[in-house]
Amino acid sequence: MFAVWAGIAWAGTLEVHVLDVGQGDAILIEAPDGEHILVDSGTRSADLVPVLSALGVEDLDLVVATHPHADHIGGMQQIVRSFDVELFLDNGLEHTTKTYGELVQTLDEEAVTHRTAQKGEVFTYDDLTVTVLWPGPKTLRGTRSDLNSNSVVLRLDHGEVCFLLTGDAEAPTERALISGGIERCEVLKVAHHGSNHSTSAAFLRAVDPDIALISCGLGNRYHHPGDQTTARLAASGAVIYRTDAWGVLTLESDGRNVEVLDGLPSAANLGWLPRDATVAAPRPAIEPLPETAPKIAGSGGARPRTSDPDEIEPPRGLFWRIRQWWQRRSTRRDQTKE
Ligand SMILES: [Zn+2]
Repeated sequence: MFAVWAGIAWAGTLEVHVLDVGQGDAILIEAPDGEHILVDSGTRSADLVPVLSALGVEDLDLVVATHPHADHIGGMQQIVRSFDVELFLDNGLEHTTKTYGELVQTLDEEAVTHRTAQKGEVFTYDDLTVTVLWPGPKTLRGTRSDLNSNSVVLRLDHGEVCFLLTGDAEAPTERALISGGIERCEVLKVAHHGSNHSTSAAFLRAVDPDIALISCGLGNRYHHPGDQTTARLAASGAVIYRTDAWGVLTLESDGRNVEVLDGLPSAANLGWLPRDATVAAPRPAIEPLPETAPKIAGSGGARPRTSDPDEIEPPRGLFWRIRQWWQRRSTRRDQTKE
């Protein structure tokens, strides 16, 4: 297994699912005490309602729309109509599209509390802390895309494990975050589907992620992720996981280590990845989501702590990780069949 070891006390289990919504973003977070947070909802065609139900969602404690582009809020109306939403946060920027207008109308109709996320806000769900890092008090203006640059950026802290969710933030956002003193974070949801306009070398130096998650559609017309960004990520030492190659990426944290339960680390030199976006490579065989919530072994109860340094796996090479991943996946498949 590929795991990042941080080393503190038991903090329950946090699960983060980067859902496979094609070209777009949708991330479901299950807090240690079972509360659910949704960050973005993919395009309208993603139809996340049955997916969320299958993952055990009954209501949503927090929904965040990082910014009002259709690949992030397209499916949001259905979500807001189908689940009780405790609080809805956005980046405060309006968009001219029908999708955006209808969403605002739906939020009003469903009487959902909705407002702009503000830098420095902290939400606590048991052992999970969600901190808003962006938008700041001053909206970024005159950038390549102001909607992207003012994406809601969230930091999830679970024990000593950190996830950084960046929406479609771009270089100006990253500069603002760096000057605000952004700290190291183990897991980075790479901004803007891996576009070359984000994920600068300076930002990667500051965040220094071990795991990089890219949410993008197979053979997408934007050619995401960009070659420059994947090269910068590779140079930073982060292991890259992509939804276009391997579907839903599920990560589990116990507050001390974080493990990618699904998804295979990808590398540009592995021939099976779609290097040329105009050529749609065949999608690897991924099991469809089960009709009932998938129960991952060990996720429901206490996981034994590993304090013996001999038991802590050192980082290994890519092929070692692939072998481990394959073994783990086969074991889980066998368990599911039983
Ligand atoms: Zn996007």
